[in-house]
Amino acid sequence: MKTALVTGSSRGIGAAIARRLHADGWKVYINYLESEEKALAIARELGAEAIRADVADPAQVRAMFRQIGEVDLLVNNAGIVVPGLLQDISDELWQRLRGVNLDGVFYCCREVIPQMVHRKSGVIINIASVCGVYGSSAESAYSTTKAAVIGLSKSLAKELGPSGIRVNAVAPGFIDTDMTACFSVADRAAVADETPLCRTGSPEDVAQLVAFLASDSASFITGQVCGCDGGLIL
Ligand code: NAP
Repeated sequence: MKTALVTGSSRGIGAAIARRLHADGWKVYINYLESEEKALAIARELGAEAIRADVADPAQVRAMFRQIGEVDLLVNNAGIVVPGLLQDISDELWQRLRGVNLDGVFYCCREVIPQMVHRKSGVIINIASVCGVYGSSAESAYSTTKAAVIGLSKSLAKELGPSGIRVNAVAPGFIDTDMTACFSVADRAAVADETPLCRTGSPEDVAQLVAFLASDSASFITGQVCGCDGGLIL
């Protein structure tokens, strides 16, 4: 059975990805930081193991990979958002944002790549955002981290393709999770109104795309930024 690690899979998009991969026959590892109860509940549901690790801390990431061993699929999903004008974002918030959204992806990739190269196979999927492709007003710090994740994904796709490893980024639009729960009903309706498919997205919408990219059906797809946004940014 092939093994997958989904970072930040205690809730939201990560939890949906874990469930979908499990349904597709993957042995899934759940990673979480704060939401222990939710992580343990999903782990019980999927017969999986839940591992607490802050992806922004290289020592905790190393320990997590030591615990898991071989990983065929790494989904870098853990992320936070810090909204606000750039000049209002403190050093601490910027370092945390970058630490989770970018350093976390870097650290997890750094752990998994040597074993994937050794086996000459593997898949890495990085959850970016439409903000990283098109930018987003009052979310420039967040957008910067996501744009960097896209750059990292493309470079790794070139670097690792000859070793049989595929690397893609996924760029969700507005997805209904805790991260977007602060938006009012009116704001949500306005986003749906601007979206050609006339709705906001669900975590399952993103999970289906990730499951496809993880599968052999996507065996000739690497280095792509795959949108999942209902056409929002057309
Ligand atoms: P969410 O509902 O807020 O969930 C975030 C997940 O990340 C949680 O499981 C959380 O775990 C985990 N996490 C946060 N910091 C972590 C850390 N330092 N180490 C390990 N895990 C950590 O967010 P979401 O909407 O599902 O977002 C998932 C990903 O999609 C993020 O990368 C986000 O930027 C991206 N995205 C979301 C949207 C959207 O509209 N929702 C759009 C574009 C991109 P704990 O609760 O256990 O701490």
